[in-house]
Amino acid sequence: MMLIAGPCSAESLQQMMETARGLSGCGVSVFRAGLWKPRSRPGSYEGAGVEGLSWLRQVREETGMQVMTEVASARHAEACLLAGIDMVWIGARTTTNPFLVQEIAAALTGTPVTVFIKNPVTPDAELWAGAIERLLQARIRETGMILRGFTTPESGPYRNMPLWPLAIGMRTRFPELKMLVDPSHMAGRRDLIPQLCQQTLDLGLDGLMVEVHHNPNAALSDAAQQLTPAAFKQMLGSLRWRSADSEEGSWQADIKALRAEIDDIDARLLDLLRSRMEISRRIGESKRSHGVAILQTGRWEALLASMIEDGKALGLSESFIRRVFSAIHDESIRVQGK
Ligand code: PEP
Ligand code: MN
Repeated sequence: MMLIAGPCSAESLQQMMETARGLSGCGVSVFRAGLWKPRSRPGSYEGAGVEGLSWLRQVREETGMQVMTEVASARHAEACLLAGIDMVWIGARTTTNPFLVQEIAAALTGTPVTVFIKNPVTPDAELWAGAIERLLQARIRETGMILRGFTTPESGPYRNMPLWPLAIGMRTRFPELKMLVDPSHMAGRRDLIPQLCQQTLDLGLDGLMVEVHHNPNAALSDAAQQLTPAAFKQMLGSLRWRSADSEEGSWQADIKALRAEIDDIDARLLDLLRSRMEISRRIGESKRSHGVAILQTGRWEALLASMIEDGKALGLSESFIRRVFSAIHDESIRVQGK
């Protein structure tokens, strides 16, 4: 489990050292701090810039942690190379721009710098994959991904919606790359961070990048989402850590039996879906020969309502029933139209 922590922005040498000292002894291997801050509005704190590179180096010298910052252009990447920074991340706004990603990849070709690439702002897996491919094609082998959440029409309590399935899909697509999670930018507020960290562990993802500041309320950026070093350590202590597997014989046997049952049910589900679509196809033929429209909204709404009711009685949530049956209904309409 890779742990990265540090302030949103590098503000001063004193702020960096105090935060870094507070992080000692809790397993954080990489200290993060943004030097060039992408801000939505002009006039917000835009970072210390190149001056902060030497602060990062001092943190490394004193604490032994590796150091990391955000690059948003070839110029930033070159400055980091000159200063011997160990790792960089490409931020969500930059990932959305293939020109910038290409320029950064070119600037870092053949160097030992590790590059983590955050998801783009919008939930576009191809754009994220494309950015990773640009780095891999530039022979930047030390590469990883960071899920920091997405801008979506509905984001619930989050600043950026996690969309875990999208991240899991990316991890399957690039199995050799680590997938870290940045719960700070997902949450936007510190009280939601522990549960997002727990979900990261439960899903078996590869690490965390968390914003930690020695005095969050006085932070020049993202004040509401930063944790103090003490709160961060306390959170680490309260998480339920899981291993990818367990050697214990009886557990292995139990899980094997349960997985066999699941495989069996999945096979039956597939067969049921196949039969259902076959009937949809026949209904389609019958509607066609009688000149009747495919979509009969009234019937579908009544069916869904009764399914939700029955589902509830069986302990299945309304949103689950809606998602499953909407997918089945969409496919059924497609099949009827063939
Ligand atoms: C950050 O990590 O401070 C940052 C700006 O991240 P993102 O690109 O996820 O907004
Ligand atoms: Mn931030």
